[in-house]
Amino acid sequence: MHRNASLPQLKTGVSGASLPAAPAPCPAASADVCAAEMLRRNPYEGTLLVCDFDRTLVDFDAGERLCDELAPELTSLLSSLQMPANFVPVTNTVLSEMQRRGVSRDRLVSCLREMGREVPLAVQRMLQWSARRGMETVVLSDCNSVFISHILTGARLNTLVRHVITNQASFQRVAPPPPASAAADDGDGGGGAVVEPAVPAAAARPPRVPSGFGSGWLFRSSSGSGLSSSTSAGAGKPPAAPAVAHRLVIEPRHDHRACGSHGCSLCPANLCKGAELAALRASAPRARRVVYCGDGANDLCPCLGLGPQDVVLARAGHDLERLIAQRAAAAAADPGVRRVAAAVHVWHSHDELYRLVQQHAT
Ligand SMILES: [Mg+2]
Ligand SMILES: [Zn+2]
Repeated sequence: MHRNASLPQLKTGVSGASLPAAPAPCPAASADVCAAEMLRRNPYEGTLLVCDFDRTLVDFDAGERLCDELAPELTSLLSSLQMPANFVPVTNTVLSEMQRRGVSRDRLVSCLREMGREVPLAVQRMLQWSARRGMETVVLSDCNSVFISHILTGARLNTLVRHVITNQASFQRVAPPPPASAAADDGDGGGGAVVEPAVPAAAARPPRVPSGFGSGWLFRSSSGSGLSSSTSAGAGKPPAAPAVAHRLVIEPRHDHRACGSHGCSLCPANLCKGAELAALRASAPRARRVVYCGDGANDLCPCLGLGPQDVVLARAGHDLERLIAQRAAAAAADPGVRRVAAAVHVWHSHDELYRLVQQHAT
């Protein structure tokens, strides 16, 4: 299954007088010669701009930000996790609890679109600048496809990003809660709604309950949730038809339960960014250089896979900068330690990030 959450294709013809003219069809028989000619005419096409999302393209962590808006009492569950933790199970637990507390699909989407308004202006300009020059821009993130696509859409940037490589997410219909008597009988505390995949039959598969669901460690009690099963229907009154509810469910990009470990000890079980970047590069033969923008500990692995022709733009004061420096110091003492071979530049603001991308794009 192809899990890339491909966004609409890059628009061509974005205004920009400095754009190189579109190359004429290459007469060369060899694809390699043709690619070289295209790069000679427009060297930007040889650069792959790879951007982490949370705290790189935006200043916030999307999951924490969403919690702050819709269920702030749950935010600490996300913010307490440390790398290389797999965020998918606990994020699913939080999303499930949000749904139980009455956060609708529309409200969640609307909140994500609003968050798009917080994408820094310099990032908007950077993505527009790279698109005008024909640079392929890819988001590589341990967030999820629904969060990222709606935030980029809210920022009107979705057409400027060629691919989003992340954990796939989708809304699934939640069955109405059972009657109070049945809930009391099954010992489930009244909160155990069943997920029915809201997908076409051809694509249907058994519902996957992410680990963390049903563990009962946190949300088994429905007291105070405002969404406990109906216990107050008036006698003699027909119960109101339950509203259709949807819950956002995230699937791991790499399903270690089905596929085994991806073999990388630096990365969480659900996603190895280094393996994803290597695969991306192999599928883009014209990309001679990668400019990688990131901030977090999970950006170290892809940076270690880069070569001297590539560039890392690491956010100042964040884990990636610290880990790269630690690696460099350790490698100086022990040549057996892998260090980042790419040129590393540190950025403090998104304006600076934009300037660095412009400087190092060719
Ligand atoms: Mg990040
Ligand atoms: Zn890795």
